Amino acid sequence: MIIDCHVHINQYELMQNVPTLEGRLEALQMEMTSNDVDYALILSSYKTDEYRPSARQIIDAAKKYDNLGIVAGFSIDNHTEEDLKDYRKWIKDGYVKGLKIYSGYEHYYPYDERYQKVYDTCIEFDVPVMVHTGDTLSKKSKLRYARPLNLDDVAVDNPELKIIMCHLGNPWIQDAQEVIYKNKNVYGDISGFVVGDFDHYFEEMMSEKVSELINYAGEPKYLLYGTDWPISSMDSYLKFVAKMKIKKEFRDLLMYKNTKDLFKI
Ligand SMILES: [Zn+2]
Repeated sequence: MIIDCHVHINQYELMQNVPTLEGRLEALQMEMTSNDVDYALILSSYKTDEYRPSARQIIDAAKKYDNLGIVAGFSIDNHTEEDLKDYRKWIKDGYVKGLKIYSGYEHYYPYDERYQKVYDTCIEFDVPVMVHTGDTLSKKSKLRYARPLNLDDVAVDNPELKIIMCHLGNPWIQDAQEVIYKNKNVYGDISGFVVGDFDHYFEEMMSEKVSELINYAGEPKYLLYGTDWPISSMDSYLKFVAKMKIKKEFRDLLMYKNTKDLFKI
C-alpha cells in the first residue's frame, strides 16, 4: 500500500495546460493509478486566487473520489476567523484531515502567537499540523522563517500537538533530525526534494541524508512518504525510495502506516 501525504492541486506553471480544478484532479487520479498509489492528501494553499483553489473548492470537487483527503492551508495574512470555523466543521465531517501553515512563504515564524489558534484547533480534534520547512519554490519567501529548528519551540510549547515538518527542512536535514529525535511529537515528510525528476547523483545524496536521519533518530515512526506532486513526479519518487537502504518494516512505516495512523485514514 502507498499513501502520498503531500500533493497539490494548484495550477502551477508546469500545469498551465490544465486550467480547471476538475482537470487537475483527473490528472492526479491518473498519476496515482499509474504509480499504484492508493490514497493522497491534497494540501490547499496559503492564498486563494484563480490558480490556487480554496479548501472549500477542493472539498467540493474531490467529493466524488474516495481516495483523497484534504489538508487545509492557513495563513495569517490571507485567512480569517471564519475560515477556521469552516475548517473545524470540515474536520468534524471528515473532509479535512489536518491543517497546514506556510512559514517562509509568509514571513512569520511558526511559533508566532497568531498561529496558536491553528495549533489549538489541531489539538482539540487530534489532527496534525503540517509546516513548510526548508527551500521554497517562490523567491519572495524568506528562509529564516522556514528553518526546521523553529519547530522545536512549537513542539516544546505544545506537547500534545502533532507536527509534520514538510520536506525534512531540506537542505537543513541535520537540524531536522535533531528536532525529530528530541521531540516525540514531531514527524517529517520526505516530499519536494526535487523539481521534476531526480538525477542519479542528487538521488544518491538525498538517499544518504535520509538514511543518516534514520540512523540518528531511530525507528522511523515519524517519517512519512510524500512527493509534492506535481512539483516532483510520482514515479521518480518511487524509484528514489526503492533505492533507499532500509528494512522492510521501516519501509511499511514510511510508505503508509505512519500517515494512516496520524491522519486517521
Ligand atoms: Zn508542498
